Amino acid sequence: MRESDILATDRQIGFIQDTSRLIKESESKTGRRLTASVITFGCQMNARDSEKLAGILVSSGFELLDETEDADFVLYNTCTVRDNANQKLYGHLGEAHSRKKKNPSMMVAVCGCLPQEPTAFEKLKSSYSFVDLIFGTHNLYAFPEYLNRLLSGERHIYEITDHSDNIVEDLPVLRKYPFKSGVNIMFGCNNFCTYCIVPHVRGRERSRESRDIIKEVERLSSTGVKEVMLLGQNVNSYGNGIDGEISFPELLKRVCDVPGIERVRFMTSHPKDLSDELIKTIKNDEKICRHLHLPLQSGSTKVLKEMNRRYTKEQYLDLALRIKDEIPDIALTTDIMVGFPGETAEDVDDTIDVINKVQYDNAFTFIYSKRAGTPAAVRPDQVPEDLVRENFDRVLKCVQENAKKQSLRWQGLTMDALVEEKNDSLEGYVTGRLSNNMIVHFAGSDSLIGKIVSVKLDECRGFYYMGTLL
Ligand code: SF4
Repeated sequence: MRESDILATDRQIGFIQDTSRLIKESESKTGRRLTASVITFGCQMNARDSEKLAGILVSSGFELLDETEDADFVLYNTCTVRDNANQKLYGHLGEAHSRKKKNPSMMVAVCGCLPQEPTAFEKLKSSYSFVDLIFGTHNLYAFPEYLNRLLSGERHIYEITDHSDNIVEDLPVLRKYPFKSGVNIMFGCNNFCTYCIVPHVRGRERSRESRDIIKEVERLSSTGVKEVMLLGQNVNSYGNGIDGEISFPELLKRVCDVPGIERVRFMTSHPKDLSDELIKTIKNDEKICRHLHLPLQSGSTKVLKEMNRRYTKEQYLDLALRIKDEIPDIALTTDIMVGFPGETAEDVDDTIDVINKVQYDNAFTFIYSKRAGTPAAVRPDQVPEDLVRENFDRVLKCVQENAKKQSLRWQGLTMDALVEEKNDSLEGYVTGRLSNNMIVHFAGSDSLIGKIVSVKLDECRGFYYMGTLL
């Protein structure tokens, strides 16, 4: 960590201490502790950010609630990757406004990707002026300071910056699960796929130093964490731009070597940067989970070029089939977009061809969503909605047929599962996750939660298994 980053961390910890004093003062006046709630939209990166935001709130003295209804402070950690995520937030804000009318001392904050987008930020300021605090992805590390200013009576705090070199380490985190955790290894993205808003809202790629990452994993392990998921928009380019930094496969090996760590996952891999060294590393280390998410987006070389994905249909197929060949027990999943501008029925046939050849274990299939500020949004050849719908249904049908077949291939086998939670719908059952990311439900007590156990996979029910604890 650089000296300036250490100073930035110390400064924020000072704000946490001062806010904690303010909250105690308020409690002694009112006889009750201030409460807070964090609502998260979007990806794994956002989920991890929310754990940090929740950690700061709890360390500052708030009591954390699952529901927003009775919270004195409500924070929405937003996503803007598709328009429906924006609409969802506006719906939530409408409800928050009604509550704030009844309880004017309630504080509302919005952070994350959405306010990084200039038009969305202007809309928030003008149409949702009851929101007290708005900050962007690059300002997250300064949340203790904003919280302190809010508690000191300031309102309309708007803090959005275009970029940040700060990677502030060691602020408090409140993990959802005590036995598994995400670990950010890098932030931002340099790829500029022509449909994607992420590089515009999360900024350029910045890797954390490997020794800080390893230190964090060691710390997590010492508190009982067994499984870590290394997070980045494109983990395969980890370390680029840092002189003398290790490669992603080397980082994976070092994380696997941390005593107490039994499973390692990672997300997301850009196919253009996935190296042979990475395939070898996954193959040779059993601790690396047998699941790889390899976004395809489209199977048409023409569309891929227009998306600026920088691989062809053939290159992707070669890579995916090589991975399956080298690591036969790996589960491959993907993202598929339908309706990119200019996409024809023949382009979709190419996508279907790739699905049939790769035989994904699962795929997240979604309809292209126009994002302002991206090159694809201004193309005149947007695909008519009825054609998109028709193509989407064709792709989805193919994905589901393949996934159904793939899921069945584990039936009758015995595998290790990390028990994650009590099963809410089946009395006396718990739910575990297999190395290949599938879910298994089996009879067992709560005392198994957080343990890795052997389970026989008796019956495949679509995308999950019913099993027996051995
Ligand atoms: S790789 Fe492409 S799709 Fe992924 S975050 Fe970067 S720009 Fe977006």
